[in-house]
Amino acid sequence: MSGVVITGAASGIGRACAEALVADGRRVTLWDIAPTVQEVADQLGMPAAVVDVCDDAGMAAAVTAAADALDGIDGLVHAAGQVLAEPVGAYTGESWDAVLDVNLRAQAMLVQLALPHLEAVARAGGDPAVVGISSIEGLAANPFIPAYCASKAGLLGLTRSMAAQLGPAGIRVNAVCPGFIHTPMLQIALDVEEVAAGFVAATPLGRIGQPAEVAQTVAFLMSPRASFITGTQIVVDGGVTARHP
Ligand code: NAD
Repeated sequence: MSGVVITGAASGIGRACAEALVADGRRVTLWDIAPTVQEVADQLGMPAAVVDVCDDAGMAAAVTAAADALDGIDGLVHAAGQVLAEPVGAYTGESWDAVLDVNLRAQAMLVQLALPHLEAVARAGGDPAVVGISSIEGLAANPFIPAYCASKAGLLGLTRSMAAQLGPAGIRVNAVCPGFIHTPMLQIALDVEEVAAGFVAATPLGRIGQPAEVAQTVAFLMSPRASFITGTQIVVDGGVTARHP
């Protein structure tokens, strides 16, 4: 029985994805740059590795180790991510690259490294799938975080291109675009009362979303229930992007 590699699995949405996939009976390996990923993995009884998804050599070694530990890789969930509040005038070449590297480049490298394993699962009659965590910021403008917006929009382009290339090999590639979700990444903003109130006011369902609500959509896209879905995204935002301001 093969399994799914999940990046950013120590926290927030990545962690919730690991929990949802395990609840669905899947095997997973949890990756994160934070060593606390081991505690999360121990709770789930699954393997873990401390991996920086911006380190190509480290990720290559981790893919080999994951394939050994899981007896093959049948899916990837790229949830590792970071955001820097640096508008035009504030970012540097280095900080721009740092955001693009983890949010976008890492998925490009991870899929390439894991491709032989995904192809093997497809050849054996399985339904290998990739899900990248994009964002509503990949669909509409946020003036404060241009690198993040570019990375998340880029992830949607990457999703379409990979789906078009890998579809004939039986590999599906999709993205999920969360809205405002209660995780450590959003906590800095949620700590400012007016900002938190603004997020809630912008959300027709009238609340901040939970990581598990994103993870349920990811688990669906990773499952054979989504067997004819590829090259697209599902928005999980409580209606934020549906409404004209
Ligand atoms: P989070 O901070 O709780 O989790 C992100 C995880 O990524 C952390 O555990 C972090 O250690 C890990 N990570 C960061 N850089 C890494 C690296 N180089 N290598 C390996 N791991 C690394 O945040 P989250 O909100 O759960 O974010 C998960 C994904 O969801 C991100 O891609 C984020 O952009 C996206 N997202 C979040 C929201 C939201 O409102 N929280 C909305 C839309 C999209």
